[in-house]
Amino acid sequence: MKKSSGVKPQVSHFKKLTCSGCSKAYPHNRPQTVCQTCGAPLLAEYDTRAIGASVKREDLRGRPASIWRYRDFLPLPPTLDPVTLHEGFTPLVRLGREPRRLKLDELWLKDESKNPGFTFKARGMSVAVSKAVELKLERLALRSAGNAAAPFAAYTARAGLRSLIAMPKDAPELTLLACEMLGARVSLQRGSLEDCTQFVQTAALKDGYFDLSSFAEPYRLEGDKTLGMELAEDFNWELPDWVIYPGDGGMGLIGMWKAWRELEEAGFIGKKRPKLLFVQGEGCAGIVKAFQSGEDRAETVTTPTGVAAGLRVGKTLGDNLILRALHESGGAAVAVPDSAIINAMKDLARSEGILAAPEGAASLAGLRRALEQGLIKRSERIVLVNTNTGLKYANLVR
Ligand SMILES: *Cc1c(COP(=O)(O)O)cnc(C)c1O
Ligand SMILES: [Zn+2]
Repeated sequence: MKKSSGVKPQVSHFKKLTCSGCSKAYPHNRPQTVCQTCGAPLLAEYDTRAIGASVKREDLRGRPASIWRYRDFLPLPPTLDPVTLHEGFTPLVRLGREPRRLKLDELWLKDESKNPGFTFKARGMSVAVSKAVELKLERLALRSAGNAAAPFAAYTARAGLRSLIAMPKDAPELTLLACEMLGARVSLQRGSLEDCTQFVQTAALKDGYFDLSSFAEPYRLEGDKTLGMELAEDFNWELPDWVIYPGDGGMGLIGMWKAWRELEEAGFIGKKRPKLLFVQGEGCAGIVKAFQSGEDRAETVTTPTGVAAGLRVGKTLGDNLILRALHESGGAAVAVPDSAIINAMKDLARSEGILAAPEGAASLAGLRRALEQGLIKRSERIVLVNTNTGLKYANLVR
């Protein structure tokens, strides 16, 4: 057993899976998908008091520089080594010129492009593929707008599992090449992401593939939540005033919100939470629309458009949880046009030296919009999340 692969707690504090819609409990010793009664995502629950009693935040020093430093809050049993490529522990960069231009006191960027596969989705994949190994699943499938695919292919390759990916044919070409190189079987679908979902569900029925798509199973969210844990540790356990997150499925945002609750229950942080700003592209803004009209569910966007592949989803099982987190945090949701996203990509590259993807640049475009609307005060401490590398999209700036 490699020492670097993670800390082993003596006991697992993972207690159960509970439906986020109807609270029905599900056993976690076999594979689970979504709630069989109401279709909502299942959430992992921990004995957070017991975690707090057995580990203090000082104990994290000297642990692995990856998401597995938070292993006490993750669902893997102590006897198993995780499937890891050193995901997480990404740089938090203080920006310089851009905040001066916007007259902001403090602007930071969490650079998730430094993850394996160059996107924050590596976090969730590390945990979900580790759980798949524990549960003896041998064939995993994914539908992806593009960005989850490369980390999925990387972790399944590392675990020695068979992988099948369905992507729309307009997904970034470098992603396709990376997946092929990593040995995944890729099927490019002519239609929308819905067609990809159909393809994966058929493969599940016919060939016994287990679906690892967003919210189709409960464990990617657990990996994604480590982004919230890391932000707390990055700021020495005093969370910032705003976290600006570009999304559509909402796994990152819901994960962070869950993480902060668990950290507070375990005594790692106090009551203070950041306000969350959810940023979408104008061509796929179902959550923004629902937030603005006070709905608790979002309508499906049937033909999502926009330059940011990671923001072209149009339908999420997490809509209700996203909207709840935005309201509870006192946050907001804004939509930005492609032109503002591309300008923000250029500005981050040329003023800050950061190759942000359009999804990540959308968070800067969203900040600018929120400042215009008076949602954010210039004295507040603000964090942008760059969820992906700009290299896949350098042609947009040219
Ligand atoms: C998937 C993705 C997002 C948004 O994902 P959520 O499910 O909303 O958390 C943002 N940026 C990139 C690059 C992505 O791949
Ligand atoms: Zn339910």
